[in-house]
Amino acid sequence: MNAAQGVICSVAPGQLYQRLLKDRPLPEDVSTGLARFRYAKGDMQMHYALKAPPRWKSPELGKVTLLHLTPGLDGVSRASNECERGLLPAVPTICVGQPTALDPSRAPEGKAILWLQLPEAPRVIKGDAANEIAVPADGKWTDAVREAYADRIEAILASHIDGFRDNVIARRAYSPADLEAMNVNLVGGDPYGGFCGLDQFFLWRPFKSSVNHKTHVPDLYHIGASTHPGPGLGGGSGFLLAQSLG
Ligand SMILES: Cc1cc2nc3c(=O)[nH]c(=O)nc-3n(C[C@H](O)[C@H](O)[C@H](O)COP(=O)(O)OP(=O)(O)OC[C@H]3O[C@@H](n4cnc5c(N)ncnc54)[C@H](O)[C@@H]3O)c2cc1C
Repeated sequence: MNAAQGVICSVAPGQLYQRLLKDRPLPEDVSTGLARFRYAKGDMQMHYALKAPPRWKSPELGKVTLLHLTPGLDGVSRASNECERGLLPAVPTICVGQPTALDPSRAPEGKAILWLQLPEAPRVIKGDAANEIAVPADGKWTDAVREAYADRIEAILASHIDGFRDNVIARRAYSPADLEAMNVNLVGGDPYGGFCGLDQFFLWRPFKSSVNHKTHVPDLYHIGASTHPGPGLGGGSGFLLAQSLG
């Protein structure tokens, strides 16, 4: 068997430098970068199987494959701020994906699915902005907190859809902690591999000292959501590295 000429890692910085390379001393710029690296808000996901397509009170929404339920810009600002402060938002922004609006074959004939993303889910919960849900003293997500919060989401959703609850076959919710348990790369349920503020984005991602996806180990490269040019399904970092190696 031939030895690999190089290794490309698509993982979060903690996995690469503190786990996969844990036996190697780190240069100072990497240690500093790791200490400064921040993860972003957590994410929560909900999935519904429905007996029939949802009857939106605004019927035109039934044709939209991805819509957002929010009181508006102020609502997003408030929910985002509450989440940043560790609170379960009182009125969260709900991203509603309706895959079956575009492709009915994704559910059995006549039935439908909804895919909900809640992008304002605290990684560590300090309280509930609505003062309704009791949160554990250690701030960890539990099944009880997840389901109570999912009920809040469902109530908002149901206020926009006629007969929603009678139309539900099943609901499944995934808290930020559940997402991290399924993929160690989703630290605290952060779906984007680290905070995407300007100081930690593009050329400064993951660290200010990062250059062309190189690491301090020769022929070991770091790509993925935590690296330049940032997260998403576009595979930008791998594309850029392939070009430079090619
Ligand atoms: C719920 C959700 C919805 C999203 N929606 C969108 C969207 O609509 N559009 C969009 O563009 N982006 C979306 N994203 C973001 C997008 O999925 C990520 O930016 C992208 O998948 C990151 O790719 P990656 O290769 O960096 O990491 P990952 O896809 O997380 O892959 C890294 C892999 O490495 C594995 N790994 C980590 N550490 C180790 C280790 N030590 N040993 C072995 N294996 C390890 C992980 O288990 C994982 O399989 C979403 C993310 C989530 C979570």
